[in-house]
Amino acid sequence: MKDVKTVALIAHDNKKSEIVEWATKNKTTLQKFLLCGTGTTAKRVSEATGLAVKGYLSGPLGGDQQIGALVAEGKVDLVVFFCDPLQAQPHDPDVKALLRIANVYNVAIATNSATADMIISSPCMH
Ligand code: PGA
Repeated sequence: MKDVKTVALIAHDNKKSEIVEWATKNKTTLQKFLLCGTGTTAKRVSEATGLAVKGYLSGPLGGDQQIGALVAEGKVDLVVFFCDPLQAQPHDPDVKALLRIANVYNVAIATNSATADMIISSPCMH
C-alpha cells in the first residue's frame, strides 16, 4: 500500500443517505486519504462533508467500471461500496465486475457500513 491511501466511494441510490452519513461520521479519518467515487455518490459526499472527492461517471453509465479499472491499476486501496441488496440494478454486471476485480487484486471492499467501520478504523489504513 502507498503512503497516502486512496478510498473509492460508491453507493446505490437507496444507500446514498447512508454513505453520506458514514462519510460525515468518519470525516476526520477520510480527510487523510485521497477520495474518489462514482458521479452522484462523489457529489453527494463532497457537498455534505466538504471533502474533495474526485468524481467519475455515474455508476450505471460506466462509473463502476472506471473504479474497477483503478483497482486493476493498483490505484485504489479501499472500495466502500454500499450495495442495495433489495433492488435490482440495471448495471448489475458492472457491480459484479467490480466485486470480482477487487477480489482478483485482493483489494479491500466494504459493501456495508459495519464492514466499512471496521476497515476504516483498522491499523492497516494508517
Ligand atoms: P452513482 O453510481 O454514484 O453515480 O449513483 C453508483 C452506482 O449506482 O453504482
